[in-house]
Amino acid sequence: MPWLAATLAVVIFVVDTLTTLDIAVAVLYVAVILLAMDFAGQRGILVVAAACAGLTLLSYVIVHEEGEGGPILRCLVSLTAIAIAGLLAARHQRSVASLREHASLLDLTHDTVFVRDRNDVIVYWNRAAEKLYGWSAEQALGRKAADLLQTEFPAPFESIMADLARDGRWEGELVHTCRDGRRVTVASRWAMRRDSRGHPAAILETNNDVTERRDMEKGLDRARSELAHVGRLATMGELTASIAHEVNQPLAAIVTNGEAGLRWLDREEPNLPQVRTSLEHMIRNGQRASDVVRRLRALSRKVDPSYGPVSVPEVVSDVAMLMERELLTHRVALSVQVEPGLPPVRGDRVQLQQVVMNLMLNGIQAMDAVTDRPRRLTVEIRRSAEELPDEIGGVAFSVSDTGNGIDPAHLPKLFDAFFTTRAEGMGMGLSICRSIVEAHGGRLSASNRPDSGASFQVSLPAWQDGVP
Ligand code: ADP
Repeated sequence: MPWLAATLAVVIFVVDTLTTLDIAVAVLYVAVILLAMDFAGQRGILVVAAACAGLTLLSYVIVHEEGEGGPILRCLVSLTAIAIAGLLAARHQRSVASLREHASLLDLTHDTVFVRDRNDVIVYWNRAAEKLYGWSAEQALGRKAADLLQTEFPAPFESIMADLARDGRWEGELVHTCRDGRRVTVASRWAMRRDSRGHPAAILETNNDVTERRDMEKGLDRARSELAHVGRLATMGELTASIAHEVNQPLAAIVTNGEAGLRWLDREEPNLPQVRTSLEHMIRNGQRASDVVRRLRALSRKVDPSYGPVSVPEVVSDVAMLMERELLTHRVALSVQVEPGLPPVRGDRVQLQQVVMNLMLNGIQAMDAVTDRPRRLTVEIRRSAEELPDEIGGVAFSVSDTGNGIDPAHLPKLFDAFFTTRAEGMGMGLSICRSIVEAHGGRLSASNRPDSGASFQVSLPAWQDGVP
């Protein structure tokens, strides 16, 4: 370009100097200035314009020494045109330089920034995008973003675009595939720019790489679920004697029913209706034993939590069944009060059973020292009152006992891991309960009852269709 401009300037100079045309040939120097815009900055343009003006004057001096009216006028017209073109071009170069400077700021950010036109074609690609995804700006420009990055969207693309068109912005998490096949999770923010008629013109997409954070969270979830499993086994260990009895009792009953049935059969005249009754009892007891075993197996299995609609009253009755013997040996009366018409909560059944089991067992153990009043364990299940500080929209339940309550000095550390006041305690039960409840989006708190004993309140969000 510089050579082309210089050659053109020389040609114009030669024509202007050697021919005697009646037109202002030097006006053509404007073309030299326009060509210079391609390689010169603001100062360079002014230098080129000054050189063109100098050449115009030089030709005038060489050819028209005597000075006539027409050539002076043509020379002035040319100089004016060169001056105006030079100033405009210099101003334009200044704006371009400042825009370039602003755009280069986007290369400093650690976030990837790119701009897509209305057809999803990439028109800008910053340095962080080059670094994260592995494609240079040259390779990325002109490609469709969703194809290049094999984007996985959290919702159908059309519905995201509809949100964007309505609000002008969108936020969400995307999974992109880099050039080397690596998959990255990014927190993505989109903003739409509209043209002067309000039509979508471009989308600015800013992405922050959160892959490591998400991997860490997954690792934490895994650790939490493993800890919950260990906690569950420990709690079940505390219940071994009761649970063994829970299974043994129906088995013993089956034997008794079988013997009775045989006796009715061995009679001289077999009493078939009684035999039938004995067989029915055997079946019922067999079912009860297998129910207990099924619940125990569910509790001891090591599986990742899976969330679905769970009925809290069912969870409580499942646990109550496993703890019947424990209640009996500790001479504790259990009362369960359920408000009718409760919605299901969003939860993992086994983990919620673990919470109920821990709270009930703690209550039973807390009443061991009580001899002067009835030992009562009350489970109240009701719709939660959102306006209460510790409750959220869904179902709340409380487990209350008539023990000696919690020492107020212990309240702040009650849910800390390894906090225990029991000689054989591990201090993990309540800490695991709280982490389970919080992973469910719920809350767990403790308080003392006004008369006697402690009360633990759990509040869980209701199950909503479509929310995973
Ligand atoms: P552990 O039962 O192994 O001690 P937990 O985390 O279940 O561990 O309980 C921690 C402590 O909280 C208990 O040692 C006890 O001091 C207190 N605590 C728990 N439940 C009750 C309750 N119902 N009444 C009084 N104190 C309780």
